[in-house]
Amino acid sequence: MKAISILGSTGSIGTQTLDVVRQHPDQFKVVALVTHRNIDLLEKQIAEFQPTIAGVVDEQAYAILKERYKGATEIVSGKEALSIAATLPEATMVVTAVVGAAGIEPTMAAIRAKKTIGLANKETLVACGSLITEAAEQYGVSILPIDSEHSAIFQCLEGQDRNNVEKLIVTASGGALRNWKSEDLYGATAKDCLAHPTWNMGSKITIDSATLFNKGLEVIEAHWLFNFDYDRIDVVVHPQSIVHSMIQMKDGAILAQLGNPDMREPIQYAMTYPKRYPLQMEHLEFTKGLDLQFMAPRWDDFPALRLAFTVGKEGGYAPAVFNAANEMAVYALLDGKITYGHIYEIVSTVLSRMNNSVPTSIEDVLSMDAWARLEATKEIQRRSAC
Ligand code: NDP
Ligand code: MG
Repeated sequence: MKAISILGSTGSIGTQTLDVVRQHPDQFKVVALVTHRNIDLLEKQIAEFQPTIAGVVDEQAYAILKERYKGATEIVSGKEALSIAATLPEATMVVTAVVGAAGIEPTMAAIRAKKTIGLANKETLVACGSLITEAAEQYGVSILPIDSEHSAIFQCLEGQDRNNVEKLIVTASGGALRNWKSEDLYGATAKDCLAHPTWNMGSKITIDSATLFNKGLEVIEAHWLFNFDYDRIDVVVHPQSIVHSMIQMKDGAILAQLGNPDMREPIQYAMTYPKRYPLQMEHLEFTKGLDLQFMAPRWDDFPALRLAFTVGKEGGYAPAVFNAANEMAVYALLDGKITYGHIYEIVSTVLSRMNNSVPTSIEDVLSMDAWARLEATKEIQRRSAC
């Protein structure tokens, strides 16, 4: 039986992870659940899964839960809750389903505690790529991808001689603005960006999908997970999100992994790897007819993707700054302070001010992350004042 800690249990990935657990109660036991502040849902999850500990990062929400909860689960608070859950002795696997750079410290803590990582929180790998992959190697820890594209590539690569693989082909839905006219994009609002055509996800990643920052983050994520140079990673827009990603072999053969867009499938594969178990979800049926389209990304209208390749190749702190500035800009968009066009402007302006070098610790990355957030905040204020 695998003992699972879920960081971000009340979110889109967290709740779907719990659904996988629900489908296989004899295979998985939940030992820790952590949320930011959604204590109502957390309380229901505690009642159902009876974890050893439950964490609430927000102190006010923690105080309310602590007051009213009378059960056996130990309730912990603050940012430390994430690291406590990530290193809980009885946990064998940690599913990182928090959003953004909040995942950096607990993911590193989990690796040092030799927990298998089910990685949804791509921002951590983007910001700390070499530090995380080196630590995983040093501690003999597997990082199993939950992101659907990376799960697909991971599955396609299984059993292949890596020397025979020419390139990775990452698919992108294109997000909510895929068909927007170039001249309308700049002013697109949070509401416009949140109307994702195929996936039902948390708000940050849904905005990132609309701007293609998500695909950019995923290119960097793929680089670190699979150790492929950036010029061997391609992106293709595939609006149906049925082909989750592909690999091209040196003889031209292309291997793909397909399925309906349902995150429980890659989540479960990370949790059961190398085994497979049945999963109740709507399975793909070719006989019902499939209309699959593929096209090149609109590089100039969605410039975040090109920028991701640039910062990925540049390395050092650049991906961490790219990520932190984007996070701030996304939350400003969600708050109605800025529009689509501002996000790229803010991120590229912050990047242009960075003094790049090579981080030697996650503390280095976190201080650069904090600097990038301050710079991004100034840029947001300049634009929202207009
Ligand atoms: P959601 O916003 O739906 O959920 C985020 C979860 O993390 C919630 O439980 C939230 O708590 C908690 N959380 C947020 N911030 C903090 C914090 N600072 N400290 C502790 N907990 C926090 O996000 P998603 O599930 O969509 O995404 C999670 C991660 O998975 C992201 O990195 C995303 O890129 C990645 N991912 C998501 C996919 C998806 O389909 N959703 C697909 C592939 C990757 P609360 O509910 O209290 O706010
Ligand atoms: Mg993805």
